[in-house]
This record gives sequence, structure tokens and C-alpha cells, in this order.
Amino acid sequence: MSQRILLIQDDEVAASSILDALRNSSDLPFEVDWVRRCSDGLERLDGAAAILLDLYLPDSRGIATFERLYGAAPRVPILILTSSQNETTAKLAVQAGAQDYLFKNRLDAYLLPKAVSSMIERAVNAEALFEEKERALVTLNSIGDAVVSTDIAGNVTYLNVIAERLTGWTQEEAAGHKIEEVFRIIDSTTRETSQNPMALAIREDKTVALPPNCVLIRRDGVEAAIEDSAAPIHDRRGAVTGAVMVFHDVSVARALTLKMSYLAQHDSLTDLPNRILLNDRLIEAIELSSRHHRMLAVLYLDIDRFKHINDSLGHVVGDRLLQSVARRLFTCVRSSDTVSRQGGDEFVVLLWEMRHSEDAAVTAQKILQALREPHQIDQHELHITASIGIVIYPDDGLDAETLMKKADFAMYHAKDTGRDGFQFFKSEMNARAIERQSLEDQLRHAIERGELLLHYQPKVNLATGGITGIEALLRWRHPDQGLVAPGQFITIAEECGLIVPIGRWVLREACLQAQVWKAAGLSPVCIAVNISAVELRTPGFAAGVRAILAETGLPGHCLELELTESALIEDSRSTADVLRELKEIGVLLALDDFGTGYSSLSYLKRFPIDALKIDRSFVRHLTTDKDDAGIVTAVIGMGDNLQMRVVAEGVETREQLALLQEYGCPQGQGYYFSRPVPAAEFGNLLECGVTGGAAA
Ligand code: C2E
Ligand code: CA
Ligand code: CA
Repeated sequence: MSQRILLIQDDEVAASSILDALRNSSDLPFEVDWVRRCSDGLERLDGAAAILLDLYLPDSRGIATFERLYGAAPRVPILILTSSQNETTAKLAVQAGAQDYLFKNRLDAYLLPKAVSSMIERAVNAEALFEEKERALVTLNSIGDAVVSTDIAGNVTYLNVIAERLTGWTQEEAAGHKIEEVFRIIDSTTRETSQNPMALAIREDKTVALPPNCVLIRRDGVEAAIEDSAAPIHDRRGAVTGAVMVFHDVSVARALTLKMSYLAQHDSLTDLPNRILLNDRLIEAIELSSRHHRMLAVLYLDIDRFKHINDSLGHVVGDRLLQSVARRLFTCVRSSDTVSRQGGDEFVVLLWEMRHSEDAAVTAQKILQALREPHQIDQHELHITASIGIVIYPDDGLDAETLMKKADFAMYHAKDTGRDGFQFFKSEMNARAIERQSLEDQLRHAIERGELLLHYQPKVNLATGGITGIEALLRWRHPDQGLVAPGQFITIAEECGLIVPIGRWVLREACLQAQVWKAAGLSPVCIAVNISAVELRTPGFAAGVRAILAETGLPGHCLELELTESALIEDSRSTADVLRELKEIGVLLALDDFGTGYSSLSYLKRFPIDALKIDRSFVRHLTTDKDDAGIVTAVIGMGDNLQMRVVAEGVETREQLALLQEYGCPQGQGYYFSRPVPAAEFGNLLECGVTGGAAA
């Protein structure tokens, strides 16, 4: 395709030699459009690949001629044709954007076409390059990342808009400045200047990531967390000529990460470190202590009877109480110590760098004292106590897990020894815990291996000595330990949930045995079974009782369930529902160990109780302790009043029996009449109808 050249020239001689040279050019086909006036030239710009221009025309003279054309067609290359006198003006035109100038009376027919075609080619390339650069710049400015580049000496050559915003420098201001000046980065933790990755990228000729925790300091001092990397820039031959860095503001993301890790490590209710963070701190504390040969203490704290408060006053009050506890704990420790919440009503305090183990006792005492002060929650004035277990590093263990486990044992021990106190871990506790674990494992198999059995103890009419009822008491024939009493394993069974299948076994066994005695024609007295609070709380408990009665055929009124006061206190609303359900089945309900718990008249009235069993601790000192005698007579009176049967437990002597008879206690149970005995033996008792220690 031929190129259209616009020739603007009023000098006829020059024009014709140009026309000759271009039209006869062998290598390139040119089509020349010749005009004599500037105004004509302006009209024929369209489609021109190049302009050959004389600056002195009839209608325009000097540099203004160039400006007119250049203004109208800035992308078309212009070659100035000049006389030697006007060379200065031609030079001006070149400075203003013309490609070059030639002397019009010294034109070379051979070189002119070459000059024109290379000028056109250059213009086309420049245009393409310009477009490409423009595209790159637009791209760089529209991406979300900041981009900065330097030359090989580390001087800034380019900043995109985001980089301008993040550094606070404009491209013009920054150009030529050292990168370290424009792009100031520090380590967010040490606050020390970080190594600039661009220098490294240039030196090592490879991509270099920004150092971690990098913070960019803007020109005005505002800081932003940034991330990303720098890479070297190469020339065509592959030599490094500079570096480019891409980075972005991660302040928001980093803040979010921080927040998330805070949430994962803190308890939302109290804002204290949670067990995860505590574990980290404990590991850290152990390391530090071992390095400095210091001691540290872990205090494991559990609020006494917290569940009771939570159940009776509601979770909102319970939660606020926990917050109050958290605040008090803070006041008892040094700021360097750690107070954490393990969950529920359990807290752990970590005492760093102690000198004596007694220091831990002092702190524990301080904590107990602080917690004892009444907690004002809404209109409630709550009085609480806590139990604390203490372990010392390195005496009690060398790792976090061992220390925590032993602190937990010690806490339980503090609970066992009467609450509102602290206990240091002792190795016996560990032995006990191990024993307990193995007991739990063995108990799991006790039912299927047929190791459980029941003993039976009669309830006796104190006036006649006749048997009025039977209590089934659980025994475990342990392969090594022989016959184990329920006191040894019921709590464990409750804690690990085994009490549910065990209780179900007891219930079925007792009902079956009662049916056996009935079938043998022995007096049809009521059989009583002990029910733990855990069983009563288990969903479907009443339905289970109903099913066992149906299965064994025992009428409901021949079964009595002995419940403890604590079982009734917990979660009293749903308890009331279960009791009502049980009454619908027809079973009798007795309140066991009466007098040791809350003994409140209000719930005696609220619940459908048939019998009260006076705890044997009152019967034991009946003959010597006036207070106990008072309690016993009060309970007997209460039973009369509410029409509940009263049974005195643990009658061991004739004197106790005599007093109970004098007070008018209707029924009794105890070694005086009979120890709990196996079924076969109990059958004999039933046959006589009365017990060995018959009433006088
Ligand atoms: P409990 O319900 O108060 O049962 C009476 C306990 O007192 C029995 O202890 C019995 O052997 C003992 N005892 C009876 N007469 C006398 C006496 O005159 N003097 C003395 N010192 N003690 C007497 P045992 O059989 O060791 O049972 C202890 C506790 O274990 C029971 O107390 C009951 O709470 C629980 N238990 C027993 N069997 C079961 C069961 O099948 N399920 C559940 N959940 N708990 C059971
Ligand atoms: Ca009982
Ligand atoms: Ca009892």
C-alpha cells in the first residue's frame, strides 16, 4: 500500500525536486499531495502518513506554521524543509516536536525517500510504544496494589496512585529520591527499620518477599501494615536495571486476624484468657522458670455450689457472678500473673516466678477471702466460696499437662475436705486418681460380667417389729477387691454417666426379686430403690421406670424410689415434672438422708413425697445430743402434719429404738433389726415376718 505524503511548499523548484525524488523512489511507493498554502495543507491532513513542511508560506510564516499543523495533527510526523538562513526557526520546530529538518536546496534524491520512510516507521513505533506505555500505566493505576519501581541505584522511578497514597509521595516528588526515603518500613514489634527488599532483589536478582510484620510509615507518620514482594527488572539482555515492588495495605486484614486470634484465646464472658491461651502461657512460664531456676504455681479454682446458684437464680445472674469473680481474682494477683477462665465455674491462676511455695498459699488465702465478700448482683447479695487446688513447678510436674491435671486433683481434694479452702497437690492424690481411673474402667464391665448384685435391708414397724418395706442396696463383687460398697463407686459412676445403665439394672433386678418373693407367697411389701440425682435428670427416666414395671409385672405401688434432697434442688422445674410423671405411674417417693441438705418445707409441700427418711447421723447421737433429738422430733411432727411416712435410718441400739418409739416414730431401719443381706437370706426374714431385733 502506498503512503500519502502531504507536501506543503510554495517554492516551485524545491517542490518539483521533492516530487521527483519521492515519486521515482524504487523501494517505497509514495503518493504525494502537494499544496502551496498552509490553509490548504490544514484541509488535507486526513490520511497523511507524513508532512513535509516549509515554514515560510504565503499565508503563514515562521514557527507559527509548524504550530498550526502540529496542533491539528499531533501524531503525524513532520519534516521541516528550510533554507539555510532560516535554520534557527527549523531548530525551534524540532524542539517543539518536529521530527527533523532538511535544507530544501540540498536535497538528495536517493536519501530523501529513505529519510521519509524511516520517519514514518519511527512515528508508527512511537505511537505503538506510547499506547503500550499508556495501557501499562492505566493498568498500574487501576489495580488495587501499590507499585513502586527504582533504578539500579535504588532511586525511585515510578509510583502508581495507590503507592502515592500509601507513601504520601507523589510520583513527581518521589522521582529520583532514594527508595528508603520514600518507602520507609519498620518491623511492627521491634520498631526497627526493616531491610528494604528492593535492594536485595537487585543484588540477588530474585524475587524477595517483604519481611513479616512489616509496617509502612507514610510521609505524615501514619502507619499501615503491608505485605508482598519485590522483583528485579531486566533489560533486553537480561541484565538487572532496577526493581519493582508490589505491596498492599493489610492493616484491616491484620487487625481482623488479631481480633480473631484474640477471640479464639479469650473467654467472651469475662474477657480473661481462655484455656488455649493459658496453656500457651503455662508452657512459656515453665520455660522461663526452668531457665531461671524459679518456681511457679498453678491455682485451680472452682466455685462451690455454683450450679445451685445458676439453677435457682438463672444464667444471667450466674454469668454476672462469674464476671464478678473474675474481677476479684484480678485484685489478688500481680499484674505479671495470669488469671484465666477454663470454662464453667472453673478458673486458673498462674503465679509466675515465685520464691517460696508458701507464696501460693498466701495468694490462695487472699483469693478465698476476696471471694467470700458478698457479691452484689442486681437485687441479690450472693455469698459464695471456692475450692482451690495448688501445684508447684517443678516439684509436682515438669510439663503443662501434668501440672494442670494435678491441680485439678488437688482442687477436687479441697472440695472433698469441706470446700472453701485450698489444697496443695500430694502424691497420694495422684495414686487415688489412678485408682479411680482403673475403677471406672472396671465398672464399665461390671454389668455385663454379672458382678453387680443387690443386698436387702428391711424397714420395720417400730411398734410391732413387723417388716413394712425393703430397701435394695447395691453391691459390686469386684474380682480382686471382693464385695465393694456403693460409697466406693456410686460417685464415679455418676461422674462418668455409668450410673444410668447401673441404675436401670438395679431397678429391674429389685422388681424381679420382689416378684419372686410375691410368687413364693411372701408378704407383698413395697421394695425401695435408691435413685441418684443424675438418673433423675436423665431424659426418659420416668418412661424407663414404667417400662421396667411393665416388663416385670410389678404393680407401681409396690415400688418406692428413694431420692436425695440435692436431686430435688437441682433444676426444680423439670424435676417437678418428672416426679409428677412418676406419681402417675403409681410409684411411691421417699426423701432419703433427710435433714442433711436444705430441708426446706417449701419443696416438701411442692413435691409429691410419700415418705421421709431421717438421716442416720441424727439417729446416731440421738441418746446424747439434745439438738439431734430436737431435729428427729421435728421431722416426726412434720411427717405427721404433711401425712408422710417417717423412717429413722441407722438404728443400731436398743436405746435408740426406745427413744424413737417414745417420740412416736412409726418406722425404722438399721443394723439393730438387720444388716443388708443377700436375697436368699432376706427370704427367710420375710418368712418369719418379723426381724431378729423385734420391737419390745
Ligand atoms: P442410703 O440410701 O442412706 O442407704 C443406707 C446405708 O446405710 C446403706 O449403706 C446401709 O448399709 C447403711 N446402714 C443401714 N443400717 C445401718 C446402721 O444401722 N448403721 C450404719 N452405720 N449404717 C447402716 P450402703 O449399702 O453402703 O449404701 C450407701 C449409700 O449408697 C446408700 O445410702 C445410697 O445412697 C447409695 N446406694 C446404695 N445402693 C444404691 C443404688 O442402687 N443406686 C444408687 N443410686 N445409690 C445407691
Ligand atoms: Ca436409701
Ligand atoms: Ca439414707
